Amino acid sequence: MDPTQVLRESDGTFRCRECGFRYALTGSSIAETCSRTMPEVREAALAVPDELRARRVAPAVWSPNAYCAHLADASELIEGRVRRIASEDRPVLKGYDQDAAAERGRFDEVPVEPSLHRMEAAVGRFVELIGALPEDAWARVGVHEEAGEIVLRDIAHDMPHELLHHTGDLRRLGDELRSLVVRRGV
Ligand SMILES: [Zn+2]
Repeated sequence: MDPTQVLRESDGTFRCRECGFRYALTGSSIAETCSRTMPEVREAALAVPDELRARRVAPAVWSPNAYCAHLADASELIEGRVRRIASEDRPVLKGYDQDAAAERGRFDEVPVEPSLHRMEAAVGRFVELIGALPEDAWARVGVHEEAGEIVLRDIAHDMPHELLHHTGDLRRLGDELRSLVVRRGV
């Protein structure tokens, strides 16, 4: 999770400052939310007309292509982190600079379809992985090199959060891009 994006509630759970997602789901709800939301990500991404997917509405706002490439990276990262925490003793988890990755990977130019495939594969592996976790595994700990100790249960919430958070971004962005084109005729 991004420590600047989530805040800790008085009951100890995290909540996203932007979309309000709460890190308070059961294991089966995490899996169910991922399976339900993945088709919505696909729908929101493909609803943006092909010729607008590389566009940014503002220099600091990612394009639809970039959001999808980010989600592909993030879903693989989260699945890998949960797998490591489940199987290794306090693994050290490397940080991930999402803006540096977007720049280095030229995410605006990455088409959405291959990103959606990567995401669907990672989410599928993740749902299978968490479905097979014994109850006590949810409390296992990894050590994030920036955020410190982090519990498997919290990292696992990152998956439905990323999917839901960015589905919202993609829908808003699609609307904005379409209205820009209508207004400017470009
Ligand atoms: Zn959020």
